Amino acid sequence: MGAVVGVPTLLYLPFCSFNIASPLPNVIYGFTGFKIVELHKAEQGRTDGWNRRRYTGAMKFCSHCGSDAVSFAIPEGDDRPRHLCGGCGAIHYINPRVIVGSLPYLGDRVLLCKRAIEPRLGLWTLPAGFMENGETSEEGALRESWEEARANIRVDDLYTIYDIPHINQVYLMYRGELTDTNFGPGPESLEVELFHEEEIPWEEIAFPIMRETLEHYFSDRREGRFPLHRGVIHRKL
Ligand SMILES: [Zn+2]
Repeated sequence: MGAVVGVPTLLYLPFCSFNIASPLPNVIYGFTGFKIVELHKAEQGRTDGWNRRRYTGAMKFCSHCGSDAVSFAIPEGDDRPRHLCGGCGAIHYINPRVIVGSLPYLGDRVLLCKRAIEPRLGLWTLPAGFMENGETSEEGALRESWEEARANIRVDDLYTIYDIPHINQVYLMYRGELTDTNFGPGPESLEVELFHEEEIPWEEIAFPIMRETLEHYFSDRREGRFPLHRGVIHRKL
């Protein structure tokens, strides 16, 4: 923590040290012992420089105890600010979300879903969504292909991994062959269709990660091999 010449910014209530998994995804509560944490003025400035919404999301109330005594500061022994509850002592660690999805294909066609929900309502995407607790990423991809496209696929392999750091997301996309043609729109889709490469509505693809995954696929298909691709999607400047 360095020199301590600031004002006390947080009072932890006495708790033993342990961690429990939160009922909410990607949030872990940490509890520490009884401590008063003081921040040097320079460190306070550094904390103020963090964009809460971008890096950690907004938090008005502690999701563990409901207290509104939530501050945003660097806990002792840490190197970045967290939401800290002055009511129960919880430290809220908020980490990136994992989105799992698939590229379902049949012959030389790929299945796309027209989104029935925001964001990007009316645009086309590959079936994908937030990974759920208690499932593997492949199970999540199969679940999403069913939920959004009523599609049954046999997974070949993991195909693309994309980091999207400015929105704290990681995408894992699996490539898989449709096992039948009984697909159709689930509640989050308006239409579900198979497209040849030349039919893909490239200007109406909902997300850059989906466009890049499709571009890789058709390029790899010509080569006859499907290596794993990694990428980073940065904020548009
Ligand atoms: Zn609390």
